[in-house]
Amino acid sequence: RGVIRLDSVTKRYANGHQGLINVSLTIHRGEFLFLVGPSGAGKSTLIRLLYGEEQPTEGQVIIDQFHLQRMSRRQLPRLRRQLGIVFQDVKLLPTRTVFQNVAFAMEVVGASYRDIRRRVPQVLDLVGLLPRQDHFPHQLSGGEQQRVGIARALVNQPTYILADEPTGNLDPDTAWDIMKLFTEINRRGATVVMATHARDVVNQLHKRVIAIEKGRIVRDEARGVYGYEA
Ligand code: ADP
Ligand code: ADP
Repeated sequence: RGVIRLDSVTKRYANGHQGLINVSLTIHRGEFLFLVGPSGAGKSTLIRLLYGEEQPTEGQVIIDQFHLQRMSRRQLPRLRRQLGIVFQDVKLLPTRTVFQNVAFAMEVVGASYRDIRRRVPQVLDLVGLLPRQDHFPHQLSGGEQQRVGIARALVNQPTYILADEPTGNLDPDTAWDIMKLFTEINRRGATVVMATHARDVVNQLHKRVIAIEKGRIVRDEARGVYGYEA
């Protein structure tokens, strides 16, 4: 339980592009892991394989008791409930308030009205947006919108947070605030897997760093650095 395992995973796309080549990897409960590497290296592919958005061409992805290649499509929602997903492009519902955007993630998994009333303010407080709960997305800054995205990913208390360049659209100060939020979430017990180009953040946090190049893991360090110029 609480372990993510990739076993000799290769992902070839229909157009012939190699996403990943023979990647094996274990991520333990409570880890904070950065995926780094040039554009096109395979970071997003790895994250999409973890939430079942893509299937490997070869090999196995195993998360807790879920063998992603052996389970039926119907089990996917059960797995996804354990996963909080945060993207660069937040995609909030424009006609719903902050509260309603976060509540929606609980509604789709069938949570009761009572639990929603209790839980949504808790998670908005954690991301510092309780005072903005009745605002609409267009009334928020980019950093605030991303924090709503994080609240939405956290609201069902997932074991894992998967984040694909969550600070890619943000200025450096705002990016740091968001990163601090992820470290707090990790401190509270969630496993965090994050693809990022935020070089300074990676270099200062001393977390596990996995570098990917051309679909292969070229480096895996317990207290790593970004390791690329640019
Ligand atoms: P990164 O996230 O590190 O930028 P990606 O995982 O997006 O890398 O891409 C890895 C490789 O797979 C690249 O060659 C990219 O062009 C290719 N690729 C990614 N997604 C697709 C897709 N949906 N269809 C075809 N090729 C893809
Ligand atoms: P798909 O259409 O790829 O199957 P879903 O729309 O079912 O994905 O979303 C899967 C999970 O990811 C849901 O919990 C959803 O709230 C979350 N999610 C989807 N898009 C985003 C996003 N842009 N930012 C954050 N979470 C998202």
